[in-house]
Amino acid sequence: MGRAIGMSGSAQERDRGSVERALIHALHTGEDSKAFVRRILVNNQVIKHNYSYNAIQTHQCALEGCPCTFEVTIVPRQVLYPKYCESHRSEFRRKFHLRKMDAAQKYPH
Ligand SMILES: [Zn+2]
Repeated sequence: MGRAIGMSGSAQERDRGSVERALIHALHTGEDSKAFVRRILVNNQVIKHNYSYNAIQTHQCALEGCPCTFEVTIVPRQVLYPKYCESHRSEFRRKFHLRKMDAAQKYPH
């Protein structure tokens, strides 16, 4: 595998850096109920780590009833990572999944 993750110095990288700094600050100061923090954590999770090199971790999809796992590349000094498997990174797909699960419980077979 060994895929390059982003290009350091790109605009996207700088944006993520400042979002992460604001997020970490909010978590440290107990302001984690702020709207922007909630917005970020809808799709992302904070993984605190001390890796000084890129490492692959396997995570379980955070969506209720989804058995999928996905690989996360842990990058030094980055704490923000996706929370859902690749099929469930959009809100639409998550709602669809939950509706299906709900229907299966109400009307088994
Ligand atoms: Zn999933």
